[in-house]
Amino acid sequence: MGSGKTPLLLHACCGPCSLEPLRLLREEGFEPTICWTNPNIQPIEEHDLRLRTLQDWAREVAHVNVVVAGDDRAAWERAAAPHGFDREARCRACYALRLAEACRTARELGFDHIATTLVVSPYQLFDVCHDVLAALAPAYGLTPVWRDFRDWYPRATTRSRELGMYRQNYCGCRFSAAEAAIERHEARDARKARKASGHA
Ligand code: SF4
Repeated sequence: MGSGKTPLLLHACCGPCSLEPLRLLREEGFEPTICWTNPNIQPIEEHDLRLRTLQDWAREVAHVNVVVAGDDRAAWERAAAPHGFDREARCRACYALRLAEACRTARELGFDHIATTLVVSPYQLFDVCHDVLAALAPAYGLTPVWRDFRDWYPRATTRSRELGMYRQNYCGCRFSAAEAAIERHEARDARKARKASGHA
């Protein structure tokens, strides 16, 4: 702080999704600090791997501070898991839990602005996430910095590969792992069917 830039707490879901928001928010005149609060990531080994990936990149490449906030996994089970495969309801509850903790942390640390990397991935529910942050931030006396980063997702994919970062193939919870596996199987079956019909 004291750089003439506007301090901002940037909730980060993982390292690869942080690359472009950090760069773009800095270009806009913000000075982001990253906040980790992702009790949705299962199993715990996967959670720890994503956190480590983020911290290594933040320290060695991006030179940005990472605050590790609360990771209440029991609260996630109570709030999000009961929605099961009702994806919209489950993700809404999941966003709300994580973004509320990020907002609480922002207030505690004296930030006025908050943003999230959740909206980089086109696989996230953009409008649902927007509604959640737009409702939560003012309740904590914060200004939400909402940007559509989705156009930068391909660049984030390329850059994270170049940096050798660990890249997960599901969002985080056990339901998303099952949903992603089903989608991969369906895509594989469709490829096989096209090949068999001579349209490969
Ligand atoms: S799919 Fe992702 S955002 Fe939705 S509940 Fe699971 S971990 Fe949370």
